[in-house]
Parts: sequence; structure tokens; C-alpha cells
Amino acid sequence: PSQLRRHTERLVEEGIDVVRVVYPDLLGTDRARDVLLDHLPTACAHGLAFCRAVYHTTPRGDVVPVAGGLDAGLPDMLVRPDLATLAPLPWEPGVASCLGDVTDARTGAPAPESPRDLLRTVLARCAEHGLAPVAGPELEYFLCEADPHAAGGWRRYSTATGVVYTAGLRADPDNHLLRVLRPLRDLGIGITTGNHEFDGAQFEINLRHSTALDAADRAFRLRSAVKELARKEGRMATFMAKPFNDAGGSGFHLHLSCTDGDGRNVFDDPAGAYGLSATARHAVAGLLTHAPALAALLNPTVNSYKRFGPDTLAPWLIDWGLDNRSAMVRVPPERGSGARLELRLGDASANPYLLIAATAAAALLGVLDATEPPAPLEGYGYDTARAALLPMSLPAALDALEADTGLTRLLGKDFVSAYLTYKRDEVGRFHSHVTDWEFTEYADHL
Ligand code: GLU
Ligand code: MG
Ligand code: MG
Repeated sequence: PSQLRRHTERLVEEGIDVVRVVYPDLLGTDRARDVLLDHLPTACAHGLAFCRAVYHTTPRGDVVPVAGGLDAGLPDMLVRPDLATLAPLPWEPGVASCLGDVTDARTGAPAPESPRDLLRTVLARCAEHGLAPVAGPELEYFLCEADPHAAGGWRRYSTATGVVYTAGLRADPDNHLLRVLRPLRDLGIGITTGNHEFDGAQFEINLRHSTALDAADRAFRLRSAVKELARKEGRMATFMAKPFNDAGGSGFHLHLSCTDGDGRNVFDDPAGAYGLSATARHAVAGLLTHAPALAALLNPTVNSYKRFGPDTLAPWLIDWGLDNRSAMVRVPPERGSGARLELRLGDASANPYLLIAATAAAALLGVLDATEPPAPLEGYGYDTARAALLPMSLPAALDALEADTGLTRLLGKDFVSAYLTYKRDEVGRFHSHVTDWEFTEYADHL
């Protein structure tokens, strides 16, 4: 209560009268309720009631009970504001956003499908072994403009080519990047840089590294903020993995290191192979071993698998390399306190909490099994003679997750079964849908 009073006083001072309580659902979409400041004490005491479901768009409607036996009766779940995350929204005067935690209304315990709690659980397991993962997310996205003639009603904001790593008006005709970077900075989510990516209208924003839950919170908020800022201008920012046929996909690269209780980077070891500690090498091995199952969470949609391929800078094979961007795991050249891995597997559509939780879990399993990775990739990758292929479809990745008992144990059986049931339903809906490709390919010829 005294904490609540302190926060409320601050909000009043800052002219804020609405708190947007946001939680990540199973899919990583931001779901929210706008709470009038007067109601905040009640919301904190009792939680905010939401229907326990997965919400999405289907031709039949847009609410699906949380599947997998968790609860099919669409009961209440309660979202509890986490006041430590209060942050005024720079572009919405009078409104602050606040993350919420999803709890089971009957028991008050964290709900098994709560992504924030899943990450907390995995981090607690890491802590039992003296490890505190540190994460630095990089997110890519495309900016679109309304176009009634384009598929889905949106076209790319620019189709300029050869614009990677450029800044300014040639790649970004009306300075979209500058207009998102400053409000993002003011939101306090620790962004460091932004740049134009390989394809026209594709951007990347980088976040500084931090403890894993904080990094996931910030990546989650980054996505909502970018989407919101784009929508304020009548545009749409999409973090979908591979939105266009004539452009590459959008990655969610994760820089991962690990500290011990004293904040020392335990991935660094000048005397170890490649200047990496045994812990770091085992973490690499864990990511490689569990990659097929990881894909189910890091590449969560039927569309995700269209991003993979040779010569894409997205991965295709399960491999690792020293400062090699054609590998799935890149070890950037820095050592010392900067020693880290860059997992390039994830795509921008991944739920940041599940992406970081699953990555930390796979790395921990490698550490516990003390497995050594094979020799690192030399030269240009994408050679199937040298490494195994990633799963090439969501169903294959879901099967790999189901078969991965180690990862399932760390993530929790209830969570994995809910996730598999929901995602297999999604695959079923996709397979029964007639796509535009089928019509173009067949209609007039057959
Ligand atoms: N867009 C690529 C991906 O999907 C990454 C490009 C880059 O290296 O920044 O992962
Ligand atoms: Mg990039
Ligand atoms: Mg990167």
C-alpha cells in the first residue's frame, strides 16, 4: 500500500490519470485494460479480470479457450499490475503503461500460460546452478502503408534496394526511424541504436543488454510501442517473420551471456578453447542440441519457416561459428566482459518471454550435460553436407518440442501441452485454408 501510494503520488504529479495494464498472452501479443487512476488501488488489491483464452483472429471468431487441458471453460484469470514497471507513454499524454502478471483466479498462483512467470521459473533453475543469464535483443520489422490494392490492405512503405546500414531520406523517405527512436528512448526501455535493414521498409532496433526478465519486458514493450507509433501515423509495423515474397524475413537475434552471483561474465575464459569458458561452449552445445525444439517457440508461426533458407542471413542449418553471420549461433569477436553468443534463430514474431526462457533453458541443459559443440563452421555456411537442417515447418518443430523431454521438463508440462494444442490447432486452420498461391497456381490452368 505505501508503495502504491508513492507510485500514485508520482503519477498525479506527472499529470497521469490512466494506467494501461498490459500483459503478454501466450502468443506474445500485448493485451491490456486501461485503468482509471482512481481504480488502480482496487486493481492492485484484486487483480483485473480477463477471460482465460487465447485471443486471435479467425474466420469463426477470435477467442479460443486456453487449450491443453488448462481450462476450457473460459473462466476468469486475474492480471496483477507490476508497479515497478510503470512508465509514462511519451506519445499518449496522461497515460502510463504498466506490465501485469497473469494469475489463476481460483488459486492466485501464476497461470501456467503466463509467459513472464515461465521465464521467472527458468531463471530460478539457472540461479540454482549459480547462473544469471544476460540478454540483449535485436528486433527487425517492416513498416507498411495502407493500400487497398495490396494483399491484406498494406504495402511496404519503401521498396528501395541496397539500403542496408544507410540512414536518412534515401532509405527512409520521411524519417520514420528518427520519429520512433526518440519516443522509444523516452519510454525508458533502453534502446541503443536503430538502422535500416537489408530490404526496403525494414528496420532494426537494438536494446542494451540486461538481466533476462528485464530484457524480455523491454523487447515486449518495444514491439507494442513501435506498432502503436506506426498506427498513430496510419501505418502498420509488422514483426511477422516473412511478410513479403520479394523481401527477406525479420529476425529476433538474441545476444546471450551469463554472469555468476558477483556479476562476472562466466562465458569468458582467455585460457579456454576459442577464448570461451567451458560454460559458454556447453551453452552453445545446448542450443545446437535443442534447436529443433527451440524452433517451435522461437519460430512460432506457419509463416516463420519461410524466413529460413540458404543465403538469407537467417539460419537454415543447425550450426555455430566464430563471428560468422551465416551460422545459427554466432560468437561475436568480443571477449572479457563482452564475451557472448548471438542466437540468430528467432524471428521477430516470437514471444520475447518464451524466446528468452527457451533459449536460457536450452543453454542450461547444455551446461548440465556438459556437452562440447562440434568444431565451429569455417567460411560461408548453408552447406547441408556440414550440418543438419532446422525443422522446415511448424508441425515438424512442434513434434520436436514434444519429443524434447529435457526442455519440456524445464518449461513445464502444462505450458508445453497448452502451447502444442494451441499451435496444432493453428496449423490445422492453416492447412484447411485455400491460399492465394493455390488460386494463382491452379485456377486458370486446371
Ligand atoms: N534479416 C535477417 C534475419 O532474418 C538478419 C539480417 C542481419 O544480419 O541483420 O535474421
Ligand atoms: Mg539485423
Ligand atoms: Mg544481429
